[in-house]
Amino acid sequence: MGKIIDGKAIATALQDRLREQIAYFSMTVGRKPKLAVIMVGEDPASTIYVRNKIRACEAVGVNSEAYRLAESTEQSYLEELVRKLNEDRSVDGILVQLPLPSHLNSKKIITLIDPKKDVDGFSEVNLGSLLLDDKKGLYSCTPLGIIQLIRSTGVELAGKHAVVVGRSNEVGKPIALMLLQHNCTVTICHSKTMDLASYTRTADILVVAVGKSKLVTGDMVKEGAIVIDVGINRDAEGKLCGDVDFASVMPKAGYITPVPGGVGPMTIAMLMANTLKAAKGNV
Ligand code: NDP
Repeated sequence: MGKIIDGKAIATALQDRLREQIAYFSMTVGRKPKLAVIMVGEDPASTIYVRNKIRACEAVGVNSEAYRLAESTEQSYLEELVRKLNEDRSVDGILVQLPLPSHLNSKKIITLIDPKKDVDGFSEVNLGSLLLDDKKGLYSCTPLGIIQLIRSTGVELAGKHAVVVGRSNEVGKPIALMLLQHNCTVTICHSKTMDLASYTRTADILVVAVGKSKLVTGDMVKEGAIVIDVGINRDAEGKLCGDVDFASVMPKAGYITPVPGGVGPMTIAMLMANTLKAAKGNV
């Protein structure tokens, strides 16, 4: 029977440590770190994520500034706002909540964010830093959180076969690179992978970041594997569920993250860590 990796508890402990570090930063520098959060439109999931991020800022002692813009916001207005925040010395981190409405060019907006303030780690510069293992960069929060969750098991990562399902720039690719940096042998699977189960069954560490309810079932998992479920989906009854079928995978896994209460809280904790890192680089 798999042990549950309690992401909520691990995130709370991390936030407690961050609160102390942020208090020390604020005392020595004479101001709190500041995060600007931009949201365009009223996507229900994004509204919840932004609210949780603002709450996390309050909990750890980061000043936040929320820009909730109308769905009809024009590209030029958004670009101007990002430029203004880039130049504002009092702002340490800038986060543009994705997805943006379809008439806006997300890639252009993300590229415009000063890489030193890109606390989501989505910009080309920061993705490049991760590729080159340059520790000065700001790395994507969800993969950073996943590494902490895996490390919390105490299992040695070096030499393990890690299988990542999903290859997005935000989750799949960066977590694959981080696992490689931790000396795992990494396989990346995606929608064109043939016979997905033949790969997942060989995983000592299985990270699933797809966005399809219960895609991975018990018969696809190796006995004793560490299973990290990144997905956030709604099942037929409207209940939150992951990409992993918890009921059938739990008895086989060595460790498993629940949804909710696994990767999600860690993502937000790592956002706070990135904001502190950005603030330290902006004094
Ligand atoms: P994307 O939609 O950007 O990427 C999904 C990936 O899954 C793609 O690479 C796609 O392959 C692959 N895929 C799709 N169908 C299959 C399949 N049947 N078999 C194998 N691979 C498949 O999603 P994200 O990476 O942004 O997010 C993934 C999930 O994680 C979502 O549910 C999202 O909500 C959640 N999420 C959760 C976070 C958290 O904090 N807990 C943070 C970020 C995301 P291809 O490239 O070939 O299209």
